[in-house]
Amino acid sequence: MSKKNSEYLINRKDNQYEVVIGLEVHAQVLSESKLFSTSATKFGAEPNTQVSLVDAAFPGMLPVINEFCVKQAIKTGIGLNAKINKRSVFDRKNYFYADLPQGYQISQFKDPIVGEGKVILDMPDGQKEVGIERLHLEQDAGKSIHDLDPQNTFVDLNRSGVALMEIVSKPDLRSPDEVSAYIKKLRSIMRYLGTCDGNMQEGSLRADVNVSVRAKGSKEFGTRCEIKNVNSIKFMQMAIEYEANRQVDLIEEGKSIDQETRLFDTKKNETRSMRSKEDAHDYRYFPDPDLLPLILDNDYIENIKNNIPELPDKKKNRYIKELHLSNYDSSVLTAEKEVADYFDLVLKQHKDLIPSAKIVANWITSELFSILNKNEMSILESPISADHLGRLVKLILSNKISGKIAKDVFEEMFKTKNSPDDIVEKKGLTQVTDTNEIEKIIDQILQTNNDKVVDYQKGKTKLLGFFVGQAMKASKGKANPKILNEILIKKLS
Ligand code: ADP
Ligand code: MG
Repeated sequence: MSKKNSEYLINRKDNQYEVVIGLEVHAQVLSESKLFSTSATKFGAEPNTQVSLVDAAFPGMLPVINEFCVKQAIKTGIGLNAKINKRSVFDRKNYFYADLPQGYQISQFKDPIVGEGKVILDMPDGQKEVGIERLHLEQDAGKSIHDLDPQNTFVDLNRSGVALMEIVSKPDLRSPDEVSAYIKKLRSIMRYLGTCDGNMQEGSLRADVNVSVRAKGSKEFGTRCEIKNVNSIKFMQMAIEYEANRQVDLIEEGKSIDQETRLFDTKKNETRSMRSKEDAHDYRYFPDPDLLPLILDNDYIENIKNNIPELPDKKKNRYIKELHLSNYDSSVLTAEKEVADYFDLVLKQHKDLIPSAKIVANWITSELFSILNKNEMSILESPISADHLGRLVKLILSNKISGKIAKDVFEEMFKTKNSPDDIVEKKGLTQVTDTNEIEKIIDQILQTNNDKVVDYQKGKTKLLGFFVGQAMKASKGKANPKILNEILIKKLS
């Protein structure tokens, strides 16, 4: 497992430093209702319209665990190749903040629902394994709104009590690029599983980024800083870049690094100290007396395991093995579930295309991606259905249309949503393979260009291209190029 080039080294004078990163990802569980109440979780609702008495922490209200959220966490754990713990415990993490009406967050501390696992990243120079420390379930807090009024802060409790999965990685990441690949891989796995929508703009996926630096080759880790709550991959990368350089500056000045919690200012592109790092004991964790330990039995876990859909790594390996696609094509097709679904559907509806899967893959990753991009559409909105794309490829493979005409037909399919067969039929685009017909066209061209024919026969064989072009044009691009070439050469000599 090579990881040479993806390592991010900071070069200063003669020294070389290495950056070490570990992420605590907060992924919002895809669930209609909250972790301990029946309130809705819809994004963008009017403030304080999705708040039950439990979420507002009225005295005497008791939390009731939402089994669906538990299942989602187990599924995600399986997707992370992790150990599912048969016994886990919900703890109170105590702190005071206006958007936390309970005065504590229900989380899991010593006994999380999911233990160690791993994720494989495809980097340009090979695969890289990233260890997962744990995944635990916890409640989200409400939202304080500071910028609506100069005097007052408002509190929206819609998010209060929404289920989060905190996924903690080992300090295995070594560059901003690896962090990007890691977040994308987690998001892909969770989208395949339907356990988190991964929408970073809406805050469904955000991360605390732990960064330290050390001399290249050193076995020990440096002191880390934790950058809180970064909600885009770009910002994570910028924050790491800034933070790593800040720490190297301190070391070079002979100073030490304080372990602290920092925030990333996206406007100034810098990290700033928020507070010195809190320790676990600051939170006075203790098991929540309102909730029993969560006990899972083997059958329960096995049953979930048996219903897990095919995940990206497995799908990718299957494409390589069974469809003989390249590692690259397979990665591109499986990175997003919707794309893989589309590709699978083409082959499901047109089983005869399975031996030509590579051609189908090419049409999706080049033509389809490019036209969707240009129109800012996702593949789910594609006017060209999987069935129609399959039909188009078949028209090419059966020599009904040339590859060049196919591109025009493709554009027409995108504009009209019509099937390629209809378009070819209506516009009379069927490739001419009738040798008599092609001969007629060629004879015409040779007659009107008699002088060039003489030149050709005197040795100016470069003129072949000219004749091909003229004949093709006369056939409106429909002549089968192979037949056309053959006849031309025969006639000219
Ligand atoms: P907490 O932040 O709650 O104290 P942990 O000790 O579990 O929690 O560590 C949180 C994260 O910090 C993990 O993702 C871990 O990989 C990462 N981490 C730990 N040590 C370092 C380090 N020296 N440099 C970078 N990341 C680190
Ligand atoms: Mg932390």
